[in-house]
Amino acid sequence: MPEVSSDTIKQHCSVCKSDFEMEIIKQGSGENVVWLKCPGCQGFLPYMPDDDGVAKTEDETEKPLALEDLDIEHAREYSDDQLFEIGEVIHHRSWNDYGKIVSKDALPGNRHTIWVQFLRQGKVQLIEGVVR
Ligand SMILES: [Zn+2]
Repeated sequence: MPEVSSDTIKQHCSVCKSDFEMEIIKQGSGENVVWLKCPGCQGFLPYMPDDDGVAKTEDETEKPLALEDLDIEHAREYSDDQLFEIGEVIHHRSWNDYGKIVSKDALPGNRHTIWVQFLRQGKVQLIEGVVR
């Protein structure tokens, strides 16, 4: 069983390859996800309660997006120098496609990516927060 204290959870970071007491960033609303911040690499990662061998992959539980699921009137134009939030709806101009940000990843070198479930393209990883 993972240790659970008031505001940290012990979890393994696959980037740092070690265990940390990680700060709880936010409780996902709607979806049952708790986000942790790794003190080693400063990356964000989802807390996996059933982490002991039977971790289920996100993709198996995902339903295809429907246009009516997306608040496209408030969609933000995707640009790789912007930062995005999980749950935000974006519009990709080149593809003329709308998508919802389902998760975020940190890459080595302090780079960040977003995973976006697009209506037509499906799940795509895009870079964010590019400093020019
Ligand atoms: Zn880490």
